[in-house]
Amino acid sequence: MSSEKYIRACSIWRALEIVGDVPTLLILESSFLRVTRFDQFLKRTEILRTLLSDRLRKLVNAGCLEKKLYCEKPKRYEYVLTKKGLGLYNTALMMLRWENKWGANSQKIQVTLTHSTCGKNFQPAPACDQCHEEYTARDIEWKEGPGNGMVPLNYQRRRQQTSSAQERQNATTLLDTITRIIGDRWATLIIRSCFTGINTYDEMLEDTGMATNILANRLKMLTDDGFLSKKTYQTRPNRYRYKLTDKGLDIYPILMTLLEWGETWYSFEAGPPLILSHKACGKEMKQEVICSECREVITPDEVEFTVIEASTGDETASTTETTLKNAV
Ligand SMILES: [Zn+2]
Ligand SMILES: [Zn+2]
Repeated sequence: MSSEKYIRACSIWRALEIVGDVPTLLILESSFLRVTRFDQFLKRTEILRTLLSDRLRKLVNAGCLEKKLYCEKPKRYEYVLTKKGLGLYNTALMMLRWENKWGANSQKIQVTLTHSTCGKNFQPAPACDQCHEEYTARDIEWKEGPGNGMVPLNYQRRRQQTSSAQERQNATTLLDTITRIIGDRWATLIIRSCFTGINTYDEMLEDTGMATNILANRLKMLTDDGFLSKKTYQTRPNRYRYKLTDKGLDIYPILMTLLEWGETWYSFEAGPPLILSHKACGKEMKQEVICSECREVITPDEVEFTVIEASTGDETASTTETTLKNAV
C-alpha cells in the first residue's frame, strides 16, 4: 500500500515499522523475560490467541524470533530471540528505565536487575560511547547526515491495535505505560520530531506525513498524558508550540536504541540520515548502556533478573543458564 505522502528518512521509523505496535512489544518484553512457548506468551501478554499467532509470525518473518521444534509428537515449537531480536535488548532496558522512573507502578510485575560482572543490583543508564559519561537529551546535538531527505511513506494499517490495547487495560505487564507510547508509531514519530526541534502542528505534518486527524489526536493524547506541554504563539486562529516535558525528554534514550537498531538492520544506502554528537565531549557519538553501579557497558548475558509477580508477590529467581545466552 503506497501513498503520496512523504516522511523524513529516519532509522527510527524503520525500527517502528517492526516494533511500533503494542502486541509486538509485549511479546518482545516476554521474550526478554525468557518466555519461549505459545501458552506462556498467552499468559504473560494477555493478548488474544489469534493476534498472538499473527504477531509471532511477523516477528519470525522479520527475523527477530526463530521458531524451533522442541517436541516431535505432538509437534510443538518455541520462539527464541535471534541476534537481530537480541539487538532490541537495549531498547527493553531503556524502556524499563523509563517505566521505573515515570510509569504508574501499581498492580504490575516488577523486576530487579543484577549485573553479574559487579554482582550488584543496578539500573541501566544511557551513556555516550566516546567518553562513557551518562547523558540526557539536552546534551545531544544532531545534524543531517548523508542519508537525510524525504522518503515515500508506506505503511500498513494495523487492525486491532487500539482494541488490543484497550482490552488489556487491567493487565499487569512490566512496561505498561511506555508500551502505549512506543507501541503507537504516530505518537513516537511526534516525539522524534520534537527532538529535532520541530514543534508546531504544521511542521510536524510536513515532517511525518501523517493524516491530520491522527496528528491532532496524538498531540492531544501526548499533551493530556504529560509528555508534551503546549504554549499559544498565535491567536485567531489559535496556534500552539509543543515542547517535550522532562517525562517526554526521557524517552530520548529509547529512541536512540531504535535509531541504532534501525541503522544496523535497515541501513540507508546513502549513509545515516542523522549524525549525533555529545556536547560534553564534542564527539560524534552512539549510545551505550551502562551499569549504574560499576559504570561498565552491559551485555545481555551479564544481566540476571528477579521477577516479582503482581498477583502473588512470589519471587521467581532467574537462572544464569539463560535463553538469552543460548540465543547469541
Ligand atoms: Zn561523550
Ligand atoms: Zn555493574
